[in-house]
Amino acid sequence: MTKLTIFLFLSFCLISSSYSLAYKSTHDDFVECLSHKIMNSTLISQVIHTPKNSSYSTLLNSFSFNLRISSNFEPSTIFTPTNESQIQEAIHCSKKHGLQIRIRGGGHDYEGLSYISEIPFVVIDLRNLRSISIDTEKKTAWIQAGATLGEVYYRIAEKSKKLAFAAGVCPTVGVGGHFSGGGYGMLSRKYGTAADNIIDAKLIGANGRIHDRESMGEDHFWAIRGGGGTSFGLIISWKIKLVDIPEKVTVFNVPRTLEQNVTQLVYKWQHIADKVDDNLLLRIFVRNSEFPFGGGQRTIHASFVALYVGGVDELLHEVQKSFAELGLVKDDCIEMSWIESTLFFAGFPRNTSLDVLLNWNTTTNQKGYFKGKSDYVQQTISLNGIEGVLKLLFNQLGGENSGAELQFSPYGGKLSDISEFEIPFPHRAGNIFMIEYAVYWGNINYSQSNIDWSRKIYRYMGKYVSKSPRAAYFNYRDLDLGMNNISGNTSYAQARIWGVKYFKNNFDRLVKIKTKIDPTNFFRNEQTRIRQLYEYMAKYVSKSPRAAYFNYRDLDLGMNNKGNTSYEQGKIWGRNTSRTTLID
Ligand SMILES: Cc1cc2nc3c(=O)[nH]c(=O)nc-3n(C[C@H](O)[C@H](O)[C@H](O)COP(=O)(O)OP(=O)(O)OC[C@H]3O[C@@H](n4cnc5c(N)ncnc54)[C@H](O)[C@@H]3O)c2cc1C
Repeated sequence: MTKLTIFLFLSFCLISSSYSLAYKSTHDDFVECLSHKIMNSTLISQVIHTPKNSSYSTLLNSFSFNLRISSNFEPSTIFTPTNESQIQEAIHCSKKHGLQIRIRGGGHDYEGLSYISEIPFVVIDLRNLRSISIDTEKKTAWIQAGATLGEVYYRIAEKSKKLAFAAGVCPTVGVGGHFSGGGYGMLSRKYGTAADNIIDAKLIGANGRIHDRESMGEDHFWAIRGGGGTSFGLIISWKIKLVDIPEKVTVFNVPRTLEQNVTQLVYKWQHIADKVDDNLLLRIFVRNSEFPFGGGQRTIHASFVALYVGGVDELLHEVQKSFAELGLVKDDCIEMSWIESTLFFAGFPRNTSLDVLLNWNTTTNQKGYFKGKSDYVQQTISLNGIEGVLKLLFNQLGGENSGAELQFSPYGGKLSDISEFEIPFPHRAGNIFMIEYAVYWGNINYSQSNIDWSRKIYRYMGKYVSKSPRAAYFNYRDLDLGMNNISGNTSYAQARIWGVKYFKNNFDRLVKIKTKIDPTNFFRNEQTRIRQLYEYMAKYVSKSPRAAYFNYRDLDLGMNNKGNTSYEQGKIWGRNTSRTTLID
């Protein structure tokens, strides 16, 4: 070893050991701080889990259904609070000792951002906060943020056969993340997203205080309904508006293969999917024959899956009128209660007990590797385009136990009636359908080829989907779209790259709200919006005036009043931009 190599080696050892010592002491200080606050020793052992406790690895193991997710760090502590004030204490202690927190609801984040981080962190896992109280008279419910969709559906149906809620299909998805990012499900054409139906919330803000809608203010309340979990505080509970549902709805799941003209059917479907009666939501799940990990002759299967809020005869009439090519017949359709339909769409066999909806731990038993991406389609895709994407699906060969799926989910109906500015979820009028590209595999050696496949199909679809921005669904989080720098600041321009894909024209408002309510950027992850760097940079840049380039127009510098704007007012930004022009 040369002297230089020895020097570098020793330096590395010294740096890394002092780093891990510092980390250890920060972590110990955090645990001590939290234990001191909680005081009760029995409770401490039930809610604070460190690598020294056997409960720690059990919890850690239960976190991820997606083996693709890994990080250099595991949480130094997993905290499973049983009440709100314990969360406040944890936030206080993590701030005091400089540890980042990750909030875990149902743990379904596609990139695992609720339980991994590249810097030392603590997980606040909300599994003990899952109570749900339903008010059938007022048609509302308060739901604690650790509850799952299955529990919400179950508790609603327990109280009423005529009420339901519009949210996602998978019962183990948590309301913490799902509602914060939108929440698309089988009732979305009729009633919008889950976030469209939130009427109040309780959260703990960066200041450690508990707020409800009134005390957090309308801007903050706007941001949490679709602006993404994590950024705007820790949601403790949501108040939702329940929706009316008839005692019977109708469902079907009609399979078709490549040989049964899937290409033509998909082509035709996109011409009607967003235009049919709002009571009908007809999705397509297109899979290659390896999905879900099946063998046999290779082909493409499409499942045409629908919920109709009404009886079978009206449904048949609607489908035969708009999509006769599907060849739907009465025998394909089943009338059932809405709660039974939630089991049907989650893939449970008929007559499965409703109790499975309360089993919030099911997904973690089925571990595998997974990558998802999303797109929005605003103009129908040519037949050639559909042939091309199905060919790519057909050719996906991801090793043992692998398979791929394209989900085509229609928009229109209530989703289009709501303005794109009403809440941060912006995918409204003009969207025909959303695509999810999902790929699964069972062997780590095939990770790169499967991830490459997902990027290839995404590249291929570029010419057929929304542009400027190429929009994406926040709840199908995709770090390929971009992420914050791990060390150092991320510029506004960088964050905007993925921010406008998820939130379109709502991105800037979200940044402003974030900057105001969490100026130190306490609640953050790899894709949270940046703290505005503008204020921070003030001491380093030109002064009197702080000059700005006119072509990078920035209305934060000032703008005209709706009525007259005085010369003095105009001068504020006019001098900054070396112009005296007043801008609108
Ligand atoms: C199998 C599966 C099926 C799915 N089906 C659908 C579907 O039908 N429709 C649909 O729209 N989406 C669906 N999704 C996507 C799902 O909506 C998102 O992944 C959602 O973010 C999951 O929420 P969670 O609480 O389970 O996840 P988590 O991983 O716990 O959280 C997701 C994000 O929200 C943050 N967060 C969680 N709880 C809180 C809280 N209380 N306060 C603040 N931030 C919080 C987390 O820190 C993380 O950043 C599905 C995902 C999977 C894996």
